[in-house]
Amino acid sequence: MKKLVGFEQIGFTVNSQYNCAYGTIDGYQFVVTFLPQPRQYSIMTTVKADEETGAMEQYLENMDKGTFINWAVYKDNAVVINVKNQKALDVWALQKIMQDVALASSQNGYVQCCRHCGEEVAIYPSSINGHIDLACESCLARFTSQQPPIKDVNLPLGIVGSLIGSVIGIAVWVLIYQLGYVAGITGFIMAVCAFKGYELLGGRIDKKGVYIAIIISIIMLAVAEMICLGIEIHALYSDYYAISFFDAMSVVPSFLGESEIMGAVLGDLGFGYVFMAVASFSYIRNIQKRVNTEGVIERIG
Ligand SMILES: [Zn+2]
Repeated sequence: MKKLVGFEQIGFTVNSQYNCAYGTIDGYQFVVTFLPQPRQYSIMTTVKADEETGAMEQYLENMDKGTFINWAVYKDNAVVINVKNQKALDVWALQKIMQDVALASSQNGYVQCCRHCGEEVAIYPSSINGHIDLACESCLARFTSQQPPIKDVNLPLGIVGSLIGSVIGIAVWVLIYQLGYVAGITGFIMAVCAFKGYELLGGRIDKKGVYIAIIISIIMLAVAEMICLGIEIHALYSDYYAISFFDAMSVVPSFLGESEIMGAVLGDLGFGYVFMAVASFSYIRNIQKRVNTEGVIERIG
């Protein structure tokens, strides 16, 4: 099934920013999180029994897993069921799983609680550092006050780190070019090196860092291509003239005036940028998601 499609039909609220849906089934609150990378759904509810007899654990162990359920556990007051997101899966199948859990809960004396403090109080779907959870107001307040302050980013050092990283990217591009290839993967390597460099020297990656690393990667890919052109010019003329590599680099701009050369360079770069964009897309999206949720503890419903 497509991401969280149809959840409104079972009375749930969909929060697509956090990839989750939440609602109540037979008196029990559930939150369903869509996990895009492994293509799974994670179902959670938080319950406890006055006297823990192991009934919930047993129920989950013996339940009919069918074709969809990967695994199910009851631990620290939380029932978590991991579901394969197959084509045949629909919201009604997920509803059935939740109805069965709710029934098993009520039959075995499990009541809803906050899984963190164990209190039978109102709980809310929440985002805790990017993890979707069910928690009570006082636990959320406690987590917020206990949260260590986020490290400040050292911007100048981050930029230096990103530049150093991009030099590695340039080296890879030039090396592969010498072997006679323009490999798209080097565009991706360039971006990763620029991000890692920023993170290492800057302390962590922040929103500014994402943009800076992207800009540095784009510029440095062009620099790498110019160096390749310089190397070619040098190789071409060094047999006849005593020219240094830097002399060769200094005439690169006039060579670019030749439409044929310019065309070839633009072709190489276009190839590099397309691969950089395609290969880096999910990498950058993940970083951005982390940046957006880092240090954020909040109710989402
Ligand atoms: Zn609590």
